[in-house]
Amino acid sequence: MTDLDLRFIGTGNAFAPGGLCWNGFVLEGRYLFEAPPQALQSLNAMKIDANDLDAVVLSHHHGDHFLGLPFLFLQWKYSKRTRPVRIIGPRGTKELATQIGRQVYPGLFDTRFEVEWDELTGGEVATAGALKVFAANVKHDQRLSGTLGFGIEIAGRRLGYTGDSALCDAVLDLARDSEVLVSECASVDETVDVHMNLRDDVPVVRAAMKPEARLILTHLGPGVAAEGLHGVEVARDFGVYRI
Ligand SMILES: [Zn+2]
Repeated sequence: MTDLDLRFIGTGNAFAPGGLCWNGFVLEGRYLFEAPPQALQSLNAMKIDANDLDAVVLSHHHGDHFLGLPFLFLQWKYSKRTRPVRIIGPRGTKELATQIGRQVYPGLFDTRFEVEWDELTGGEVATAGALKVFAANVKHDQRLSGTLGFGIEIAGRRLGYTGDSALCDAVLDLARDSEVLVSECASVDETVDVHMNLRDDVPVVRAAMKPEARLILTHLGPGVAAEGLHGVEVARDFGVYRI
């Protein structure tokens, strides 16, 4: 079994409780999941070169997951990136990203590298280098163009990421199939119909997983801790994990 490198560029929910960075992680130094507003700042702080990224995988268009994309393009453009980059996300990702990017940094997309946009809905698959992601429609803000969780295949391993979601069948499918599941947990006991909490939902997700599988919580609210929950870890900003 090949060990994988997983690094969290942030772990907070939209309100950045206690000063947490907004949620996102890098797999194998090449695949960035989510583009939170501070993505570039976090990558720089962690000494991860944005030019080494082959792909950015976006679960949905809420600002805490998406609004860092213009800064990544800015870095790629002015560091004279030539390698293509793949942006994977829900329907409408290209239009929204280019609309915002052109407004905030005119000329942002006049680049010497190719941008491969790959828009998915549940049941569709995308690849980027050694990474294969299987999109699942999860239960979040219905007003968005889509919200995805992902089954992830890389180096013969099977991981999962819930994105933002309430507890739903798609999350439980990811839980059953994943050796390591990165799951949102936006609060301790507050009941919000678009998110999961630690008290009611995480035990259900954990129970659906194989005993030896790992559940890593992110997109955290204040006070989320995993004491007493077997096989559950709470991700830390800038945390480095061998999985
Ligand atoms: Zn969201």
